[in-house]
Amino acid sequence: MKRTILASLLLACAVHAHAAPKTAALSPAAVKAAKYAVTTYRLEVVKTLAGLVSFNTVADPKIPSDQDPQHIAFKNYLKTETSRLGFDFADHGWVVVIGMGKGEERVGIVTHGDVQPVDPSKWKKSPFVLDQTSEPGKLLARGAEDDKGPIATALYAMKALKDQQLPLSKRIELYVYMGEESNWQPLVDFLKTHEPPQMNITLDAEYPAVVAEKASGTIAVTFPKAGAVVAPAGEPHIAAFGGGFFGSQIPEDASATIANATPEIEAQVRARGAQQEGMRYEFTRKGSDLEVRAHGVSAHSSKPEDGVNAVAMLADALAVRPWPNTTAGAAVNYLNELVGTGLYGEKFGAIAYRDSFMGPMTVAPTVIRQKEEGIEVSINLRRPRGKSIEQITSEAKAAIDGWQSRNLALANVTVRTGEPWQRLDAPQLPVLMNVFSYFTGMKDPKPVAIGGGTNSRLFPNAVSFGPGMPGQVYTGHSEHEFITLKQLLLNLQMYTAVLAELAK
Ligand SMILES: [Zn+2]
Repeated sequence: MKRTILASLLLACAVHAHAAPKTAALSPAAVKAAKYAVTTYRLEVVKTLAGLVSFNTVADPKIPSDQDPQHIAFKNYLKTETSRLGFDFADHGWVVVIGMGKGEERVGIVTHGDVQPVDPSKWKKSPFVLDQTSEPGKLLARGAEDDKGPIATALYAMKALKDQQLPLSKRIELYVYMGEESNWQPLVDFLKTHEPPQMNITLDAEYPAVVAEKASGTIAVTFPKAGAVVAPAGEPHIAAFGGGFFGSQIPEDASATIANATPEIEAQVRARGAQQEGMRYEFTRKGSDLEVRAHGVSAHSSKPEDGVNAVAMLADALAVRPWPNTTAGAAVNYLNELVGTGLYGEKFGAIAYRDSFMGPMTVAPTVIRQKEEGIEVSINLRRPRGKSIEQITSEAKAAIDGWQSRNLALANVTVRTGEPWQRLDAPQLPVLMNVFSYFTGMKDPKPVAIGGGTNSRLFPNAVSFGPGMPGQVYTGHSEHEFITLKQLLLNLQMYTAVLAELAK
């Protein structure tokens, strides 16, 4: 998954004031089961999480999940845990279903077992070892928050209900999908023949509940070598520009080479970079070339406010003069003219807009790829309701056309986006609000909208419930992913209570 700004939370209160049904008191059995879960399983839930993160379940583009040895090993571990805890287990290839109890009516828990790519050099320990010591109170690992923490928590929430022998009328099913971060099609296909539970909670975003998700999208263009300006001998120009890691991560690293960089240009770039908050630069002289390395802060691309975009910031630091449109220079000029350091597409023609509940569209350059034919700049969009796909596409293309007419012709111009999602009337919302309020002490919570997309979209009556707290930095997809022990145990209590209420 995700992203919410405090503003959207506050607006949510206004928008949903009428839609929030009055909640009843939490049942004593649900509270008792939650207390039991956290006192009995506080150590075991961490142990199981450590087991889950030890498998590198990043998608391998060459091997489908159901044939990927790491994914198969992960599922085997889950199977062992499942039988130890006393649940039934069905491996459907890309999807695992862990079930407890019987009943025509079912409550589903939607999670995923795959993770985003990771750069091990940025971690104190291996990202596939649960690091409990480097930062006291934090459990660091790839997947700790997104989305293996929620899997471990859900397993012990179910176990607590089983131990407590709560009389449940509904069967509980935990879905673990293995392609959420890379490919939703196998899940779409699976659900054509597999009847999912009538009601579902997705544990892949944030509290108190997520009832709307922005659509993601991409604006990609290539600055071709053919047709680019060749700088005259001795003239300062941008000779190289690169950065970013994957499309849904705000980039932490970027680099550029300025050829024939005069001391004056170096001083100007240093001064401009020094004024940027959250950025760190390294400068290396190589003869007449100046290499610039930029370091920002990675984040989930649906929450650009949580990070500092090294690509956008480096382009801005270089904006000390008009650069000739060499391949790399054109990429820098394009970023400065159409994106800048704003987060909302303010400079990209007329594309910027916002929705009072879902918040603003975010526009973040995330990956600069060096290709045979030139340099590709890929911008990640997260857009709320309020514009059609046709409108956003034509507005983006108009801005790109304008830039081309002033500069040079681009190749492979691609504008792609989907539809935002909302489900404002899920029947379990009063229970979710009630449980969240009881365990956090937050009065009168209201559902929110986020920038990320989750598998809630594919399941009936599904909305997200955690694992992140509203208004806090979401660390999934970043190079500093963690869940605090406190949050993990709070989640354990809330998931236990919610399942007790929804399945009774
Ligand atoms: Zn996720």
